[in-house]
Amino acid sequence: MQTTFTSDQLADPHVAESEKILRKCVHCGFCTATCPTYVTLGNELDSPRGRIYLIKDMLENGRPADAELVTHIDRCLSCLSCMTTCPSGVNYMHLVDHARVHIEQTYRRPLTDRLIRSVLAAVLPYPKRFRAALRMAALGRPFAGIFEKIGPLRPLAAMLRLAPASVPAASPVNRPTTHVAAGARHGRVALLTGCAQSVLDPEINAATIRLLTRLGVEVVVPEGEGCCGALVHHMGREEASLAAARNNVDAWLRQVEQGGLDAIVITASGCGTTIKDYSFMLRLDPAYAEKAAKVSALAKDVTEYLAGLDLPAPKNLPGLSVAYHSACSMQHGQKVTKQPKDLLKKAGFLVREPREGHLCCGSAGTYNILQPEISARLRDRKVKNIAATGADIVATGNIGCMTQIAGRAGMPMVHTVQLLDWAFGGERPAGISTPPHQPPARR
Ligand code: SF4
Ligand code: SF4
Repeated sequence: MQTTFTSDQLADPHVAESEKILRKCVHCGFCTATCPTYVTLGNELDSPRGRIYLIKDMLENGRPADAELVTHIDRCLSCLSCMTTCPSGVNYMHLVDHARVHIEQTYRRPLTDRLIRSVLAAVLPYPKRFRAALRMAALGRPFAGIFEKIGPLRPLAAMLRLAPASVPAASPVNRPTTHVAAGARHGRVALLTGCAQSVLDPEINAATIRLLTRLGVEVVVPEGEGCCGALVHHMGREEASLAAARNNVDAWLRQVEQGGLDAIVITASGCGTTIKDYSFMLRLDPAYAEKAAKVSALAKDVTEYLAGLDLPAPKNLPGLSVAYHSACSMQHGQKVTKQPKDLLKKAGFLVREPREGHLCCGSAGTYNILQPEISARLRDRKVKNIAATGADIVATGNIGCMTQIAGRAGMPMVHTVQLLDWAFGGERPAGISTPPHQPPARR
């Protein structure tokens, strides 16, 4: 794609980076076929190619974002399916991230939108605040129907409906400490306990710690670690996301200095995509660029790390079938596609892959709150495809997808690591029963 940026514009490193990305796009439109919002809405401006044109026009003309552009960029899930499809290697992620920062800096959103975004940014990344908010949401749930009828307040209704009926108590597994390896130590990792996940389902981190320590890996939950910053990053709040990234870089590099780290293990793929991108996010910060690159190189999804370990023979579990839902941040953001399925198969599960696996479930961070209608359409499509597998269980590697899908596909939903913990010596995850009709799996 030809561009007409001036040399003054290109002196801004953010514009220069976006210009490089834009020049790679050859307008072929292959990406439109796999874009969930184009597939759902059928509007070119809700496709990657359409959004790329809108962003190009805004940046080239150096003008503030307008309502039309904001509508179509807000509808983008940042699922990155377009990046998997694009034959020209267009880095849509960095382009849309730049557009979101430009929107945040140049566009004044309507009051309710501003308020809802500010509340989300002030609550979700902080586990104590988030837990308190979820408990309050239980009281507010009867009002969801009323908010639903008032257009600008629909995100509030979505928020209330997404809140679980009960919130688990704060778990000790999320406190900073060292979990020593059982027997001889074969490795040492830091675990990102996360923000929303640690509140909604502390059992995911507990299963990860049990499994890794049983396999001889020391697991450190570092002092000072916090939210990865993805949530505010996707809102275009650049300073807040960079502050979160710097905080975590410091916390993890202290561990590298103190005892060495083989990996930073992440159990929510949405966070993994962002941490692997810290090297890009902090590239212009002379004090952090090198440190962030080290951290991004150490970041691994838990299944990526497990795939490199010698696993013992699995328990003789019943041959349960698992519909594996690959989160967009896992398959498109991190390109981790084989490891979770291979590990589940190695553990003795029969893996089934739902149709249209490349399409987003509509969760996408805060998307299911901010864009509830499109999110619900994508969710229903995903749930139908998962249910059609007829599997016993659905597994995934991202808490956002779990919140979006759980309880709708007619099968229990767990994190992949919970099944692996069970298969390699742990207890059966809550909510999974052993169907009597299934014969034990042959080994
Ligand atoms: S990130 Fe997803 S929703 Fe956004 S343009 Fe790409 S494919 Fe479409
Ligand atoms: S597939 Fe890639 S090159 Fe083709 S229009 Fe989409 S972003 Fe541009």
